[in-house]
Amino acid sequence: MEYNYVVVGAGMAGATAARALAEAGKKVLVIEKNDHIAGHCHDYKNTDGITVHTYGPHIFHTNDKDAWEWANRFTNFIYYQHRVLSYAHGRYIPFPINRDTIAELFGTELSINEVQQFLQDEIEHSSFELPLANFRDAVVSQVGETLYQTFFENYTRKQWGRDPEELSADLAKRIPVRNNRDDRYFSDVYQGIPAAGYTGMISNMLDHPEITVQLQSDYLKVRSTMSPEMTVYTGEIDRFFDYCFGKLEYRSLRLEFRTYEQKQYQRAAVVNYPNDYDWTRITEFKQLSGEISDRTTLCFEYPSAEGEPYYIVPDDRNSAMRDEYMEKAAELEAAGTHLFIGRLAEYTYYNMDQVITATLQKINKLL
Ligand code: UDP
Repeated sequence: MEYNYVVVGAGMAGATAARALAEAGKKVLVIEKNDHIAGHCHDYKNTDGITVHTYGPHIFHTNDKDAWEWANRFTNFIYYQHRVLSYAHGRYIPFPINRDTIAELFGTELSINEVQQFLQDEIEHSSFELPLANFRDAVVSQVGETLYQTFFENYTRKQWGRDPEELSADLAKRIPVRNNRDDRYFSDVYQGIPAAGYTGMISNMLDHPEITVQLQSDYLKVRSTMSPEMTVYTGEIDRFFDYCFGKLEYRSLRLEFRTYEQKQYQRAAVVNYPNDYDWTRITEFKQLSGEISDRTTLCFEYPSAEGEPYYIVPDDRNSAMRDEYMEKAAELEAAGTHLFIGRLAEYTYYNMDQVITATLQKINKLL
């Protein structure tokens, strides 16, 4: 069979690209290295009837109506608003920082205006440099040193294995700070967990007469035998170019799954552990899906330099190297032979919805 398009990777980026191309009448071959689809979004129902996220917790959230509508074509979503507690000073404290965080931590009930003043005072008693050039200074400039040290400093060291001063200020944009009592992790308009699971959602995306999926097949080992009109690549960008500018760093996690003989383990779906223990957070999956079971399955996350590439590492060295690779990628994109899409291929700390948005934009432009 002849394919016009080869899509490398069957994760969110690859499946979205494949579907959009197939709907435009292209014949698409999806090549996936792993023995399953859905990439790092992969999930499955375990024997206790609990949906487990194979590569750690994924919560879909977006303000982009198009991305939301795209996702909803392939699954219904369970209504879910993500809430996180952070374990600090022996207490479970609402996080990200909002009025109730301050009330719980300092024992002071403040009005919204007072919260603003409180944070202002904290910031004024703290030191940071302008313009904001790293993660530490970006956070301290928003909440001051005490809150930074309580919730961010050690978590960030654990998660990234380096000083927060070495990480990009942009990383701080992922975590909001609020004066009000909104204790949700995300304030996006659309949020939820796919009722079909992420695997079901991606499977539905790939279920199209013009799409063929080939699992357990490493594109970089077979690429010399292929000559499609175009290749959409969603794997690691440095690997694609044979590491010609050097190795980009990726951060991984060792995930420990435990099932306990109890209905509920913790007070929120996710509890962060900035200062205690070697794990960064514990997820209790049934609290994401609302599934009922006498037992409960948890995921403990231990950050690691080795293993599956889950995260890019947002520091100066990597972003400079990324720019070099992206320049090379842009040349191939301009020539019309390749597209590079997704967290690994764009070396960008995308959320799932951003992957969909970026993919649809690139594919629609192409078509
Ligand atoms: N972060 C932190 N403390 C927390 C949660 C997050 O310091 O309790 C920092 C940390 O550097 C983390 C980043 O914010 O890597 C982004 O957090 P997010 O929850 O978005 O990470 P993800 O869910 O992508 O692992």
